[in-house]
Amino acid sequence: MAITGIIVSAGIAFGEALHLNHPPRHLDYRPIPKTQLDQEQRQLATALQQLQAQLICSQASLADTSDNYQLIEADLLLLQDEELIAQIVDTINQLQLCAAVAVERIFTEHANALLALDDPYLANRAEDVHCLGQRLIGAINGTLPQGVEQLCRPTLLLAEDLTPAEFALLPKAFITGIVLKSGGLTSHTAILAKAAEIPALLHCDFESAAIANGTPLALDAIAGELIIKPTSAKQAQLEQRLQQECARRQALLAYKGQSSQTRDGHRVSLLANVGNLNDMASINDIGADGIGLFRTEFMLMQVSTLPDEQTQYRLYCDALQLLAGKIFTIRTLDIGADKDVPCLQQEREPNPALGVRGIRYALAHPTLLTTQLRAILRAAKHGPIRLMFPMVNQVEDLDQIFQLIETCQQALTAEQKSYGRLRYGIMVETPAAVLNLSAMLPRLDFVSIGTNDLTQYTMAADRSNAQLTRSYPSLSPAVLTLINMTITQAKRAGVSVSLCGELGSSAQVVPLLIGMGLDELSVNPNALLEVKAAICQGNFTQFCALAERALQQDTLAKLKLCLGGE
Ligand code: PEP
Ligand code: MG
Repeated sequence: MAITGIIVSAGIAFGEALHLNHPPRHLDYRPIPKTQLDQEQRQLATALQQLQAQLICSQASLADTSDNYQLIEADLLLLQDEELIAQIVDTINQLQLCAAVAVERIFTEHANALLALDDPYLANRAEDVHCLGQRLIGAINGTLPQGVEQLCRPTLLLAEDLTPAEFALLPKAFITGIVLKSGGLTSHTAILAKAAEIPALLHCDFESAAIANGTPLALDAIAGELIIKPTSAKQAQLEQRLQQECARRQALLAYKGQSSQTRDGHRVSLLANVGNLNDMASINDIGADGIGLFRTEFMLMQVSTLPDEQTQYRLYCDALQLLAGKIFTIRTLDIGADKDVPCLQQEREPNPALGVRGIRYALAHPTLLTTQLRAILRAAKHGPIRLMFPMVNQVEDLDQIFQLIETCQQALTAEQKSYGRLRYGIMVETPAAVLNLSAMLPRLDFVSIGTNDLTQYTMAADRSNAQLTRSYPSLSPAVLTLINMTITQAKRAGVSVSLCGELGSSAQVVPLLIGMGLDELSVNPNALLEVKAAICQGNFTQFCALAERALQQDTLAKLKLCLGGE
């Protein structure tokens, strides 16, 4: 049996099914009969044991100096805290509440007490306490998700959705593929899965097939199918496909050492989008000219406390060393929308994509931004850094940013700490940024077009919403016009212009983008060689002619046809 879905990261994978469940939020708050009190206490005791066993098991695979180890240690201590357990038992007995509700009450009280102490470390801990309470409730209700940390066999993960923070914590060695019910093509989890070369499908209604954990599955993320209990013939067919795919990728390696230049000699800088130092270490292997986008917020998703200035400074210096003079573009923290940072305790917003995200979040939390700016300014002493700001809409945003940078420089001078020169740029991610660009360009060294968000905000289509994926692709005449306006304005002002959205990772679209005048692209590392091949195999004169034709198309269908699609 096969279920279809939308391909978000191409490839073929085999593995056992594992549902990544989130415990149901529904609790029964009605008082229970006195005769049930003992049973609730027994349930609590069993759940406490079960959860502790799971945590100890997870801890076994971690170094005892790691953040996660320490975090689990703190959770274990709390689950053994006699005073806390006595409070839960009292709540069950005196208020005649079921164990799950009693746990919710006492853990919430405990978390609130930590928050009231107005200490940033304890505020972080309050969120951990809340999560631990939810897991304990899951254990009581029999819905405790199996810890993915303990995986030891190839596994295909099935989930409603997955946040970038959850993705960051997955044991990638055993996750062969990901299947989501929701999610969007340019959601950050999708981008991460692609970069990690994990085949993934979204908008896949696997629930109707009632797949049990452990069921053998095959994921054909080339045809867009999840196959349940594949027959041996199907398995063999897919294995053959996988081999062909490996051979195709192997052939692309021939482009690794080549300069990305068209046959008629037009050179394009090809950079990579990365989220951590590991990705950076591999960019030399894939023949990138440098880093065009370092999404620094990803480094916060796996930690329980924020890295301080010195830690960040060292990280940026390590990166400079790895890059050995190649372009290094750091984007300041782009927090908000689908990028939750668990250790930051963000406020819930009714409409997060239109809320306090990107540069708005950073400016609203100046300590966070100042720490990062100081670390980057100091690192710039050791190598060339381009600094880029996300979601800048108007010149007033730049006023605030440059004011903060000046304050940081003055403080560093006063502290006799040296710092280097930076080149400054913004992401162009909203129609407002395009329309306000001429006022901002005089203050910038470069701009980079973020088509993931530019599409989202132009088409008013949530990039994480799978329902919209088919009707709102990343390229439409409207988005193309905005890209063209950005390139034209930037070039006229003598400001260099790049594109770092996922659109640039499509080998089919790249000739059009280069023909429109882009001399630099920053792409998903997984797509870099494919994009380079498309550049090396083409002619710039043909790219320009294609761009001219494409810009005249006024419907999506005509545009697709022009690009050689269906
Ligand atoms: C974009 O919006 O195109 C972009 C590159 O930034 P992110 O995907 O991190 O939002
Ligand atoms: Mg963006």
